[in-house]
Amino acid sequence: MEINPVKGTHDIFDKEAHSYRKIEMICRYVADLYNYQEIRTPVMEHTNLFIRSVGESSDIVSKEMYTFEDKAGRSITLRPEFTAGIMRSIVSNKLYANADLPLKLFYLGPCFRYERPQAGRYRQFNQFGIEAIGEPSYQLDAEAIAVGHRILISLGIPKIKVVVNSLGDEESRARYREALKAYFKDHIENMCSDCKRRYEVNPLRILDCKVPEDIEIVKGAPKLHDFLSPESKIYLDSVIAALDEIGIEAEIDDNLVRGLDYYTGVVFEYHVVEDGEIKDVGALGGGGHYGKLLKEVGGPDLEGIGMALGIERLALIDQVVNKNDVLNGPDFYLIGMSDEIIEKNFSLADIIRSEGMSVDCAYHVKSLKSVFKVAERKRAKFAIIVGEDEIEKRQIKVKNLQTQEQTDVKLDDMALVLRSMLNEYMEAFYASQVEMK
Ligand code: AMP
Repeated sequence: MEINPVKGTHDIFDKEAHSYRKIEMICRYVADLYNYQEIRTPVMEHTNLFIRSVGESSDIVSKEMYTFEDKAGRSITLRPEFTAGIMRSIVSNKLYANADLPLKLFYLGPCFRYERPQAGRYRQFNQFGIEAIGEPSYQLDAEAIAVGHRILISLGIPKIKVVVNSLGDEESRARYREALKAYFKDHIENMCSDCKRRYEVNPLRILDCKVPEDIEIVKGAPKLHDFLSPESKIYLDSVIAALDEIGIEAEIDDNLVRGLDYYTGVVFEYHVVEDGEIKDVGALGGGGHYGKLLKEVGGPDLEGIGMALGIERLALIDQVVNKNDVLNGPDFYLIGMSDEIIEKNFSLADIIRSEGMSVDCAYHVKSLKSVFKVAERKRAKFAIIVGEDEIEKRQIKVKNLQTQEQTDVKLDDMALVLRSMLNEYMEAFYASQVEMK
């Protein structure tokens, strides 16, 4: 009997795995640029943590959590998002005590949500994200938005739309909630069942509804912006102005409320602008400011800003934007023309690897034609051929698999020559990428 993967999960291999690896490298690199330090928290947390932080009215807690009882009867949940676990970890380890605030952390790993699987939506997915905890600062909020933006730009995504909003302080949000309830009172009978539930627990979330008939009704609803305190408006404007200063255009979206209850103040999302083969796969990422979250989980009264990107969605776009990426093969494919040479190639490959260049090898003698095919299928940049003739002359033959050009390289100069051939190859590759775009 064939056993299928669990619904909503997927295996990542070949080109997709290459995309993931590249995206993760870019995320880590950009995190370093802004001095965010890595934190790794457990995949499992006590269920209560998410109920108290993400909130019972959120879709995540009310219907999407993977919750189970462990053998000792504790209620455990696979993390549906990272922020709550990181706040718990900051408190458990008193990370706020010795740090110069803001505490700047980044994370990368899997999350679990029991959602309806579709393109760009899985039940196990990966997130990269950051959290900055300390005194509220519009610059820190703008920086969090800039970190995600820089990652998306570094991936080569041509056009990104950044949308922002402010959920205001508690008082203005309470007044807005009342205004929404009054407006939806006459409509709610005809709206979807999710909206009916949201009407009772958190009417702001109705603004997020994707049902076309409901979207029409939402259009006439009062606007959050009109209920914001002057301070909240100034704060949002400062974030937008700071972003503008570094060339990021952020647009206000009045209906942006985000799905997690802990957000207060500025919230934001990134979307790709559809262009030819590049399709919208839902928000690439998002985040927001949280005023009370750390305190809610037993920590000091510090505020925070978080940003998370969905690696699956970035990989989907990377597969389109960078489909000619050649980086996912070895630099060299080493071919020996006899069993004896193949035996010697073992140490030759090792020398090349010690010089920081990647090598895969043919482990059995085959016809040249068929090994070249293998080298191409492995997406090697060059093939290295070693035959009796080469051994005698203490040299190797190097074939550029793109141009088919062959060069004899003396064993004594091998490391230097291979390195410069590789550099030339990559320069030509990047030049061709630029021409294509
Ligand atoms: P959230 O934690 O809901 O703010 O989500 C942040 C980002 O994680 C989203 O913009 C998506 O890119 C990604 N994401 C959230 N849920 C899923 C999912 N079920 N499958 C794949 N990616 C997701």
